[in-house]
Amino acid sequence: MSRDMRFAIIGAGMAGILSAVKLTEAGLTDFTIYEKADRVGGTWRENTYPGVACDVPSQLYCYSFALNAEWTHPYASGDEIEAYFERVVREHDVERSIRFGDEIVSCAFVDGRWHLETASGHRDVVDVVIAATGVLHHPSYPDIEGLETFAGHAFHSARWDHDVRLAGVRAGVIGTGSTAVQITAAIVEEVEHLSLFQRTAQWVMPQENPPYTDEMRAVFRDDPALLEKIHGELSQMFADGFANAVVDADSPQMKMIEDMCRDNLEQSVIDPELRERLRPDYRAACKRLVVSGDFYQAIQQPNAELVTAGIERVEPGGIRTSDGVLHELDVLVLATGFHVDSFMRPMSVVGRDATQLAEVWAERPNAYLSISIPDFPNFFMLNGPNGPVGNFSLIEVAELQFGYIMGLVERIRSGECREISATSTAMEHHEADRVEAAKKTVWTTGCRSWYLDDRGVPATWPWPFDRFRAEMAAPKAEAYEAR
Ligand code: NAP
Repeated sequence: MSRDMRFAIIGAGMAGILSAVKLTEAGLTDFTIYEKADRVGGTWRENTYPGVACDVPSQLYCYSFALNAEWTHPYASGDEIEAYFERVVREHDVERSIRFGDEIVSCAFVDGRWHLETASGHRDVVDVVIAATGVLHHPSYPDIEGLETFAGHAFHSARWDHDVRLAGVRAGVIGTGSTAVQITAAIVEEVEHLSLFQRTAQWVMPQENPPYTDEMRAVFRDDPALLEKIHGELSQMFADGFANAVVDADSPQMKMIEDMCRDNLEQSVIDPELRERLRPDYRAACKRLVVSGDFYQAIQQPNAELVTAGIERVEPGGIRTSDGVLHELDVLVLATGFHVDSFMRPMSVVGRDATQLAEVWAERPNAYLSISIPDFPNFFMLNGPNGPVGNFSLIEVAELQFGYIMGLVERIRSGECREISATSTAMEHHEADRVEAAKKTVWTTGCRSWYLDDRGVPATWPWPFDRFRAEMAAPKAEAYEAR
């Protein structure tokens, strides 16, 4: 017996689009994607700052079912990635299933089905919810005295104000994460003066990004097997070189990463005083590694200044640092990152027996294998809490997770059960193992980063990537309660 099933997918970003394509492929065509914005693309729709790009190779940062011969560069710009997702949506006819401009505000599991309500009051009842809401989407604004008094234009990097002219202005950028580094390199030539406010120096991995030629694109176009081969090789290279390296702080691969970052700093920054101010006092990849081929060059431009004195306050005219200096500014960019523990919140999610997600997650978010939460049957997350994050493709992570979710969905579709969620025991054991394994990772070697939760435990997958692949191959029956 095979059941008809209705699905809701929350979010039309990378993972939501993936879900729509894969459900359709499996013949499960009764679904709606709910998207709060008016376009697809998720993080690539929201982040439009100058220089936005992906530091994972474009031949890897794409769906395995939609490899792309047309990338203009080995590392694609945000615009190009956004256009890629729009193209996949068109080619797979996903758009007709998307409800744009309406945000899900509540999901409640009542009588074996999920009852959804949107901000506009629209209601839906589905068998399965796939939360594809992303991680880095709630901007974190710094708590700096006087920020609201700034007389120029101030905005978060993920809320870039494209009406503000940069030519000839005195710009300030707060932050030194991947975003700030890309912005710095992109705007330094245009602005009159750039002040980069660094609270913590970053290790920077070098990158080369010469454009693909027309000839190379023609070769990719004519040889799909070559694209597949490149995708597979890059996947293995990033698993071995990054994902497996960072989970073993003493590994030889970690040493290679550290050497590359140190050599990059030594060779790229000429002034020894500036070089020392740019030198981190913690290990490379403890924070998410910054990858850039032009940041060091940008910060050495005559109109660029690295400010390492602490920010005292913001004044109408600019930023006053702890040494008493007023850095006069017309534009202030807050490249200060995201609240990373929200996931689908503030949406209200109520599971079996009126269990409130807000209470279950009051301390911190958690889920078995980052996918399923006990007592929230048929509610599955992509790129949920404590999953693999790092310098590799989250598309690949989501594809593996989706395959696993389909294993759970199949048990419902086949009629074997109507409700399925991880057991508390499975989740507790997994969590205990995860916290223990995290001690060996480079993320715990002494830095502040968005990877760390409120206890200082990395909220990530702490094992090699092959173990993730193996775990995602099929759900273990004993880890699930099926009714
Ligand atoms: P981030 O890595 O969290 O960096 C935030 C920066 O703001 C840090 O340098 C932080 O300093 C600084 N900061 C925060 N509050 C501050 C305050 N009150 N005063 C001074 N400085 C303050 O954020 P992000 O750069 O937006 O990157 C977030 C993540 O997005 C990345 O780690 C990455 O996963 C993803 N991303 C990826 C790409 C890509 O190419 N794939 C590009 C951009 C972003 P501290 O270091 O001292 O905390």
